[in-house]
This record gives sequence, structure tokens and C-alpha cells, in this order.
Amino acid sequence: MLVEEKWEDILLTLKNEYELSQIVYESWIEPLKIYQIDNNILYILVPPEQIALNYISKKYTTPLKVVIAEFTGVNYEIKFILPEDTKKIKPAKSIALQPNEQTQKENYDLNPNYTFDTFVVGNNNKLAHTISLVVAEEAANPEKKFNPLFLWGGVGLGKTHLMHSIAHYILANHPQLKIQYVNSEVFTNEVIDAIRTGSNSQMNALRDKYRNIDVLLIDDIQFVIGKDRTQEEFFNTFNVLYNAGKQIVISSDKPPKEMTTLEERFRSRFQWGCMADISSPDYETRMAILRKKEEMDNFQLDNQITEYIATNIKSNIRELEGALNRLMAFERLTNEEITIDTAIEQLESIINPDSHKTITPELIIEIVAEHFQKTPDQLISKSRSSDIVKPRQIAMYLCKNMTGTSLSGIGEILGGRDHSTIIHGIEKVEKDIKKNKETKKLIETIQKKINPN
Ligand code: ADP
Ligand code: MG
Repeated sequence: MLVEEKWEDILLTLKNEYELSQIVYESWIEPLKIYQIDNNILYILVPPEQIALNYISKKYTTPLKVVIAEFTGVNYEIKFILPEDTKKIKPAKSIALQPNEQTQKENYDLNPNYTFDTFVVGNNNKLAHTISLVVAEEAANPEKKFNPLFLWGGVGLGKTHLMHSIAHYILANHPQLKIQYVNSEVFTNEVIDAIRTGSNSQMNALRDKYRNIDVLLIDDIQFVIGKDRTQEEFFNTFNVLYNAGKQIVISSDKPPKEMTTLEERFRSRFQWGCMADISSPDYETRMAILRKKEEMDNFQLDNQITEYIATNIKSNIRELEGALNRLMAFERLTNEEITIDTAIEQLESIINPDSHKTITPELIIEIVAEHFQKTPDQLISKSRSSDIVKPRQIAMYLCKNMTGTSLSGIGEILGGRDHSTIIHGIEKVEKDIKKNKETKKLIETIQKKINPN
């Protein structure tokens, strides 16, 4: 996921997770803009005073990193800059704030972390990895037997990672070669666009873009299949490049012979070169991937926890990483070392997605209301009568202890109450539980209703 696309959500999440007040948010956080991304460095423009910069970088660097990692899985180094600093930064390959200058952006629309260095080789992907490396190395004079290279395998098993690795390798080692990496969904949209405008020059520009190159990498070809015009456009491009001896790399979630709607002439063409599949990683490979990622993120989990993840998440590497990202974000948020119990709890929804309903504040309010024969609306209402205040406070207490919702989040859901009201309510229940066995029992009963497991 691109950090630029998610920027607004990232900032809002930062606000919620760290319970920033509206004024803090508006003064410091909302104005932050991505200036540039250069490999793993994220340059962020701050409002133009040195004091603001010092303050923001002291207070918000870590929180921002955590939230960005949660959204993107990438651990960016963050550099806050002032407008006058921008002159000192050498332009990266992609400049987020200046779309006009994104010349050949498509070429470089690559995840900086998807390189051969970070790709863990296991039994499941050995062949695909070796051939990809050869293809990258020999890109100037492709070997016929590896052209086209057709990579196939299930979702989240590393096809895109390998394709980006090939692209990075060529950019670094054969800078004279013109390459084009594209997801076939993007390609489809480009074709549709050119057709829709009916402009010859646009169609010509598109053809030029994909035919006047040395290496074409087209990801997730399955999106093109069955879309007549796009498919036709792609195969014409394919032929032009192939006949000119240019390297083509294709990925798909299925082997050509299973692409039943694919015309025979195309199917056989894909099989001219080389097909390499990526299958699900075995346990050792899953462990190695987790370890590699821990090392890259400078994050260390207890062995038992890593083993727990590798044992329980088997078929999708993206989920494997998702589990690790979740724990990493949790540790950085709470500043507590993760134990196996917290890990099991935190990963419940990934590892046992169907075991029970996710516990949300809404669910809690509903069950508490029902238990006291009230309606959720009454709990949320302004009423201060004691038969409503008590269940409301219990709901506050349970929301805090059974969900990850922030205090202000709880306040919002419970009828827009402020932070201090929520704290007061929770403390009241905590005291009651200590003083009074009945209350303790009551809370346990409601808790069981909410979470029977
Ligand atoms: P696909 O394109 O096959 O759906 P991706 O290439 O997007 O899968 O991989 C999903 C995630 O798993 C990515 O974050 C990628 O970096 C990671 N990944 C996949 N295979 C490996 C591997 N062999 N070593 C390290 N990370 C991997
Ligand atoms: Mg992919």
C-alpha cells in the first residue's frame, strides 16, 4: 500500500491512537505533507518554523513511524524538513508532491523493499528465484529459453516481490535498459482510457510507452484475460517486444493451462519460454521469512512467538507479515514486551478469524444494555438516572478492558462523552469490583456473554 495514498488515514489514525486533541491535530499533524520518498526515507514537510519542526520531530516521530508501519508494513526513516530545506535534498526517483516532475514514474513505481536481498529463498520458490535472477542479469541479451518468464503462484506468495526485484536489479546493473513494470489492472485502465478518448495520439503514446522498451514486466496478467481490447493490445505489444528479442516477465495466479478463457494462440505463447511456480512456503521458510523481517525492522520476538506465528499461518506470506506488523505496532504503542499470551490475543482475528465475533464497543453496549433490560440508546443518552448510569459505566469499563478502543473513542461511541467522564466511570467500576464480590461476579457474567470463549 502506498504511503501517499493512505496519508490522510495515517494522520487520522495517529490522532485516534494517541488521543490527540483536535487543536493539536490541526496545528501539528494535519499540515504535514509528504515531500518525497527516497528508498526508505520519508521526507515530511512541516509548517514553516524551526520551532515547529523541533517540536514535531521530538514528539511525533515514533508515533508516526508506528502508524505508517501499521498501514504499509514498511519501516520508514522519517525526516522532517522545512520548505527551505527542500533545495538541499537531492530529488528522488519519485517526488510525491510534484506530479509534473514524475517523469517515467511508472518505471520506478516499485516497492524499495522488494529486492533480491530481502527475498528469502526456500523450497517453494527456489526455481522461480534462480530464473528471475538469471533473467535480471541477462536482461540485455535475454536467453530464449527464459523468454517470456511466466511466474505463477497463489496470492501473497511473492510474485510481485520477485518482479520488483528483477526491476530493481536491472535499474541498478543495466541502467542503459529501458524497463516498464505495470500491474495489468493499471494497463487495462490505460487501454480503456485511450479507447474512450478515441484519440490516436493517446493510443500511440501508450504503444510507444510499452513497445519502445527493453524489458516489460506485467504483473497479475489474470486481470487482462477476457477483456477483449486490452488482451489484444497486450498481445500485439507482446509480439512486438518478443520479435525484437526483448525480455518479458509475466505473473499470474494461475498457470496458463488453467486460464480457460485464454485463447489458444496466447496460451501457447506464454509457454514458449519458461514457467516457474511459487508454492506455499514450508515451516522452515516461514520461520526464515519472519526472522528476516524481524531483522529488517529491528524488532525481536521471543522464539516461541515467532514459532507460534509460523505454525499457524501457512499459506500466505502477506498474512505472515501482517501478524508481525500487528505485534510490532502493539509493542511500540504500549511499550510493553510481547508475551505469548498477548501475541495469541492480538493475533486471534488473523489466526482464528471465525472463532467468535470481534468484540467492538457497539457489541459491548448492546450486551450490557440487554443484561440490564435497557436499550443501547438509553445507555448512550444524556440520562443521569442511577439505573442507567451504572450499566453505562460498566460498558465504559468493559470497552476499555475488552477492546483496543481509546478512551476518547469510547466517549465518542457512548454519546459524545469526554475523556474525563470515561475515566471517572471506569474508576468507579474498578473500585466497586474491589469492594464488592457481587459486582465482580456481575462483571464476569457480562464478560462471558460478550466473549463466551
Ligand atoms: P503476490 O504478488 O504473489 O500476491 P507479494 O509479492 O505481494 O505476493 O508478497 C506478499 C508479501 O510477502 C510481500 O510483502 C513480500 O515482500 C512478502 N514475501 C513474499 N515472498 C517472500 C520471500 N520469499 N521472502 C521475503 N518476503 C516475501
Ligand atoms: Mg502481486
